[in-house]
Amino acid sequence: MKKILLIQTGGTIAMSAKGEGVELDPEAWSSHLVEQIPQLNQLAEIHTIPLFFEDSSDLNASHWDQLSHCIEDNYDNFDGFVVLHGTDTMAYTASALSFTLQNLAKPVIFTGSQVPMSSLRSDARRNLINSIEMATTGLQEVAICFNDHVYKGNRSTKLSIGDFDAFGSPNYPVIAEIGLNIEFHGQPESTKGPFSVQTGFNNQVFVLTVHPSLDHRILDCLNLSQLKAVIVRSFGSGNFPMKGEFNLLPFFKKCLQHDVIVAIVSQADFDAVDMTKYPAGRAALDCGVISGADLTLEAALTKMMYLLAQYSDTDRIRDNFIKALAGEMTVRSSQ
Ligand code: ASP
Repeated sequence: MKKILLIQTGGTIAMSAKGEGVELDPEAWSSHLVEQIPQLNQLAEIHTIPLFFEDSSDLNASHWDQLSHCIEDNYDNFDGFVVLHGTDTMAYTASALSFTLQNLAKPVIFTGSQVPMSSLRSDARRNLINSIEMATTGLQEVAICFNDHVYKGNRSTKLSIGDFDAFGSPNYPVIAEIGLNIEFHGQPESTKGPFSVQTGFNNQVFVLTVHPSLDHRILDCLNLSQLKAVIVRSFGSGNFPMKGEFNLLPFFKKCLQHDVIVAIVSQADFDAVDMTKYPAGRAALDCGVISGADLTLEAALTKMMYLLAQYSDTDRIRDNFIKALAGEMTVRSSQ
């Protein structure tokens, strides 16, 4: 029988109803969850680790490192890992771990729930059973298992607040669907070298959402000497205001002069930024802005934070950012 490590980090799956809302409940700790579903023991030999206990909004890069090291320390003793996690930042953590866990040859499955386990119509039970089962398969990557679907971790994003179908991977096919059987789509990733863990994230990154009427004087308040990169959430295919007082190009140029990397992703979930298509993108490319292609915001941010911690040379960071390091982006020549 396969040995699975269930790592508890918190989230709604570890909460219970409180008045009108929900809150973290130590009784919903991972070992209690397993006791509530004794049939889980038919799927695998499950061991639990209470790593931390937080609403996922309170997680940061130090938690990503902690979780990576927890998997590293237990890697040889288990066949697969399930991480119980809040849905709000699950895609950020899954993306971050896709960079830290290198040459992963075992499944690392993130799951959680929209409704606490103790509530009558909770999705926790189904998500937990599915995830344990997925962790016993030959998957060799970080994935999110939610509502009978398995998504590539660094392609995933939270799409719904209220629906059980909370996640999607807009620019990448679903890895597997769970019905009567587990149906895998396509060829799963396979690992080429020895497993290793490389942690460290630099949070000197600012995410700028472009919007109509954005006043650049607000951006002048940013202390660029404290920043290493700006991720710009542009309109559509890499567009931003170019005219008059709302022209954002001077701000991008100022960043680049301060050795602050500027990378563009899209506010649209589907498809990739193509900076060659419209004048704004072309002007940005000409002055040294780089394209995030079809990266999710979660993958773009964690990738940039990861690269900034690994390298000090700006060109090396830029070169790595536009390459796929862990299948997180589709690289096309015209981006
Ligand atoms: N606020 C919760 C969290 O992310 C939401 C959830 O788990 O669904 O921890």
